[in-house]
Amino acid sequence: MRINTKVLHSGYTPENGGTHVLPIYQSTTYRYDSTEHVGKLFDLAVPGHMYSRISNPTVVAVEDKIADLEGGVGALCVTSGQMANFLALTNILGAGDHVVSSPAVYGGTINLLAVTMKRLGIEVTFIDARSSEEELSKAFRPNTKAMFGETIANPAIDVLDIEKFARVAHRHGVPLIVDNTFATPVLCRPFEFGADIVTHSSTKYMDGHAIQVGGVIVDRGNFDWANGNYPLFTEPDESYHGIVYTDYFGKSAYINKARFQMVRDLGVYPSAQDAWLMNLGLETLPLRMERHCKNADIVARYFDASDKVEYVKYPTLPSHPDHELVKKYLPNGCSGVLSVVIKGGREGAVRFLDSLKLASIVVHVADIRTCVLHPASATHRQLTEEQLVAAGVTPGLIRFSCGCEDIDDILEDIEQALKNV
Ligand code: PLP
Repeated sequence: MRINTKVLHSGYTPENGGTHVLPIYQSTTYRYDSTEHVGKLFDLAVPGHMYSRISNPTVVAVEDKIADLEGGVGALCVTSGQMANFLALTNILGAGDHVVSSPAVYGGTINLLAVTMKRLGIEVTFIDARSSEEELSKAFRPNTKAMFGETIANPAIDVLDIEKFARVAHRHGVPLIVDNTFATPVLCRPFEFGADIVTHSSTKYMDGHAIQVGGVIVDRGNFDWANGNYPLFTEPDESYHGIVYTDYFGKSAYINKARFQMVRDLGVYPSAQDAWLMNLGLETLPLRMERHCKNADIVARYFDASDKVEYVKYPTLPSHPDHELVKKYLPNGCSGVLSVVIKGGREGAVRFLDSLKLASIVVHVADIRTCVLHPASATHRQLTEEQLVAAGVTPGLIRFSCGCEDIDDILEDIEQALKNV
């Protein structure tokens, strides 16, 4: 199946006379014929559900669909994009370990890496993603266990050279984790460029309608966890009666460890209702992404031509520093999100935002409705000046997320708001 078909048919196949639409299995528990069967389930010797903190048929159907969309061996839904990134990392590393990350990532991810994970004994080095392979390599230490970046950075709108990052990561025997939230598997599938693990805030385009908070981790199934750097995978897990994940699960060791060990212990599995709502969004993802990309390209060029605008950052514009990467990584569009710096710094940005009538000021992005935010006042408020610069967030920067409305209505709204700047 092609991706337009997969979003509608992957993950759930109705039986003869069965419900055409994926059902919501609103149950925390599952019934068994014998104690022996329960024992086998707990030994992971037979497939099946134990308890909805670990798996649920509705959520698993959505996971299978997302794994198929990204081209991975398995996926795991969790309660937020934040948890997806936290778990993607802590599934493979712990106190004393180190991560190399692009600094052009979501503000919440910077906080997670630089503050909360640091408190847990995990260190991070942020290094400019446009650095040469030699410079990137210098950021690695003997205890580095993962490399991290975003396909399209929020809100810097930088495009990650995934192949370059993958080459450097693999040279050091560590996996590349890519947050693919803005691109979605419709626009870019990082596994095709060497990434090992993909994460998403499914709160964004995957859902698309701002009705659930969720995250997902996808495992490509290709990374060699037995390369000597990851004893968590190759030594017996005392919390799971001595299971050795690489022996037991082979290519899907990573995603199964994440579920049966990490999600079991942390209790961050989403509800069937939320997964079902997200699935409804997935069904129209390619249709929406096409419109988002088309609208954003027009809006970017409109801003670019305005004398009230200092700078527009959208990858299809030739002025974008990563414009050359678009052909390879994002040939079908660059999402609906762009960064705009309005003349007049913070004051100009605020005046523009407060004058918009159709576009809503919301703490959200990648929604079907056009929405805007001033990151320096909101999502990136906690960052230092230095971190703001590294994340590409200047005081006058606005994150403009083009929805699926009629393009003329969006442009008219921008036009009237710019008059007030
Ligand atoms: N990753 C990216 C790229 C994001 O944009 C966000 C949120 O905006 C997150 C992760 C965190 O996701 P959530 O808000 O679902 O926790």
